[in-house]
Amino acid sequence: MPAGTLYIVATPIGNLEDITQRALRVLGEVDLVACEDTRRTRVLLNHFGIKTKTISYHEHNERERAAEICKLLAAGKNVALVSDAGTPLINDPGFRVANAAIELNLPVVPVPGPTAFVSALIASGLPSDQFFFAGFLPARANARRARLEELRTIPATLVFYEAPHRINATLKDALEVLGNRRAAVARELTKIHEEIARGSLAELAQRFGAGSPARGEMVLVVTGTLADKPSANQPGETGPSSQRLIERVGELEREGLDSKAALKKAARELGMKRAEAYRLLIAQKNRWNK
Ligand code: SAM
Repeated sequence: MPAGTLYIVATPIGNLEDITQRALRVLGEVDLVACEDTRRTRVLLNHFGIKTKTISYHEHNERERAAEICKLLAAGKNVALVSDAGTPLINDPGFRVANAAIELNLPVVPVPGPTAFVSALIASGLPSDQFFFAGFLPARANARRARLEELRTIPATLVFYEAPHRINATLKDALEVLGNRRAAVARELTKIHEEIARGSLAELAQRFGAGSPARGEMVLVVTGTLADKPSANQPGETGPSSQRLIERVGELEREGLDSKAALKKAARELGMKRAEAYRLLIAQKNRWNK
């Protein structure tokens, strides 16, 4: 008997109209739907008049469930794997089930659809040709800053999932570690209160400040160092990066830092190498002295 197929099916992240026709057909045709929370998925299935049987799998029983699901697949049953919302395996369980099936050479088929980080990225206004999806940052401040430090030199747009009660602390830490980069907070995507707040990290830290606690689900998108890369400037040329560098060095000097410390800090904030920042400053000074 041919083995059954494991379909990994994306479901809406808010707006039910985002379910795909293929997802509906697959969810209706399979023998079993494996869900994170059967009650939650049942609401979705009922909405579309789908009567397929469900079983639950979640972080704590995924290993055992993976073995059971693989047995069913090997016996020729087709199974759809869904998570509570969006794409399974994307910061959701499902990896163990999918991998167990792959290791047994059982067919695994993606049924693509909504996922919050892609929606946030495409509406953020930030470069989307290269991005790094970093999932959730650690909840503890020290670990969060250390992780941001690791990501600081990545020359691609950074995308994070974040909880509403931590967005303020995360924005402040991101500002401190990454510098005042362009960013966006995409909140309640595809839902009634959808909001995409765009601005600098400093502006967003103020917007989502401690005094105005944010609600709902959210994604933080931060421009990578690429957008500010000084090598975009030809030697001796003043581009946006050197302008920003000069302005920032001036601000820091006015705040009381000596010129060496100001250059070091500004270069770090703008994701530049210190030597490159120094070269840009000298080039500017030479122009002024002509
Ligand atoms: N598997 C999901 C996906 O494909 O996007 C992600 C699940 S993860 C447990 C939940 C996180 O995704 C939330 O904390 C939030 O950061 C983000 N998220 C999910 N739905 C969202 C929405 N409608 N608007 C903004 N962010 C959302």
